[in-house]
Amino acid sequence: MRVLMIAPPGAGKGTQGALIAARFDIPHIATGELLRGHVARRTTLGQAVQTYLDRGELVPDQVVLDMVREAMVAAKAAGGGYVLDGIPRNMQQARATYLIGRELEMTADVALHLQAGDAELMRRLLARAALEHRSDDTPDIIAQRLALYHEVTSPIISWYRDRGILVSVDAMRSAQQVGREILAALDRSTTWLGAPRVASRAASASRMTRAQRSASGIRS
Ligand code: AMP
Repeated sequence: MRVLMIAPPGAGKGTQGALIAARFDIPHIATGELLRGHVARRTTLGQAVQTYLDRGELVPDQVVLDMVREAMVAAKAAGGGYVLDGIPRNMQQARATYLIGRELEMTADVALHLQAGDAELMRRLLARAALEHRSDDTPDIIAQRLALYHEVTSPIISWYRDRGILVSVDAMRSAQQVGREILAALDRSTTWLGAPRVASRAASASRMTRAQRSASGIRS
């Protein structure tokens, strides 16, 4: 199973990414976690990216792509599955991630989109701030991260819809309910993943329909 997640901050991609990784026994590659690890260890990379994280800005694409490439090479050696959490964040990263996947013969099977409204996300992130003390969980920085998501991340959703691998899940409910729905949708998707890959636009459109039907539980 190869999954990438597209979700605004606070939608639960860390929690759900860990759940997917455990369910399918695949590595959970979380770019935010990897970057925060570098900052905490005060590595050269950590020192270079700290200001971006503190301000809620995206770190330069190449930094994240190099990190992800290394993690995907390791994932390939570990069996070829993965769940990507935190990347892609913009169109350039979406294309580059696809190219890395193609080169390693492990492009994503499912682009999992977690949907949630800004007011709920702000509420969750402020609650998390009280517990975790992340430098980027302050009201101003949260607003900046949400704006960035709407501006540069959410436009990539239609790219995955066009490729026929988009699965959208309503993330406004409890983590447990959302997790159950995600696992059910991914289990259903393994049915259409068994089908041979198709190249033509028309064929990929028909595959999209099957995928979407499958994700919503409608039998085709
Ligand atoms: P996250 O834990 O996914 O919310 O990421 C926390 C922060 O790490 C983001 O606000 C960015 O500063 C940085 N970051 C994580 N992933 C990426 C990415 N794919 N591209 C650029 N910056 C990223």
